[in-house]
Amino acid sequence: MNKVVLVTGASRGIGKQIALTFAKNGYDIAVNYNKENEELENLKKEIEQNNVKCFIAKGDVSNYEACEKFVKEVIEEYGKIDVLVNNAGITKDTLLMRMKKEDFETVIDVNLVGTFNVTKNVIPYMIKARSGRIINIASVVGIAGNAGQTNYSASKAGIIGFTKSLAKEVASRNILVNAVAPGFIQTQMTDVLKEDIKEEIAKSIPLGRMGNPQDVANVVKFLASEESSYITGQVINIDGGMLM
Ligand code: NAP
Repeated sequence: MNKVVLVTGASRGIGKQIALTFAKNGYDIAVNYNKENEELENLKKEIEQNNVKCFIAKGDVSNYEACEKFVKEVIEEYGKIDVLVNNAGITKDTLLMRMKKEDFETVIDVNLVGTFNVTKNVIPYMIKARSGRIINIASVVGIAGNAGQTNYSASKAGIIGFTKSLAKEVASRNILVNAVAPGFIQTQMTDVLKEDIKEEIAKSIPLGRMGNPQDVANVVKFLASEESSYITGQVINIDGGMLM
């Protein structure tokens, strides 16, 4: 029986690469996303080409009832969730002086409350199974802060605190909870940056380049594997050395 992974926000970018990487490693996949996307059928086919199953679990992670519903659907489909990757995330960058209350709240709701909503619905199944891995996608800005991202940095710092607290709560049930903190990764989220800013960023990174989604997916795969069975409550930076 294959292991099952639920990846939130897996329709593109880092989440998509994480889903494809688990598929290549023999996991059955549940792909969560929120907005309609023409590419989704192609992603399903690409996942199934690895002789694994793909279930599409549509739903807004910031909506508790929607999470309750799609987690239930995944359990009905596969009977279990071995690995949860809380990846869905958004930005609404601007300086605090200009930030609207709703821009702050929406980012917290999707990134941080969304992580709570999905985890809260998945954890009873992991506790019953006395086994599970939860990997949360934080960010280096949740550790170091970043001008123009008070909302996003607060959400990611919150995810780090959530990760460590939950890791302590469920360690005795053989559930391991970790976070990864990517630096600048090439996806639609960072495509909005101007070319000269991207070049400046690359220069400030010791390894001299932005990361790609596979750089993140490789570490997430490791944190779900037997090789990481003595690691919990940690935050692993994937940032080309930016934050050392
Ligand atoms: P992306 O390309 O913008 O993809 C975001 C994904 O999240 C999409 O699949 C999107 O699907 C989904 N999503 C957004 N809101 C959602 C909601 N309410 N419910 C369910 N799914 C939702 O972003 P990315 O760069 O891959 O980022 C993925 C994660 O890595 C995020 O948590 C981000 O904060 C984190 N991260 C990224 C970077 C970076 O440099 N790119 C750095 C550090 C951390 P829909 O459009 O269907 O909603």
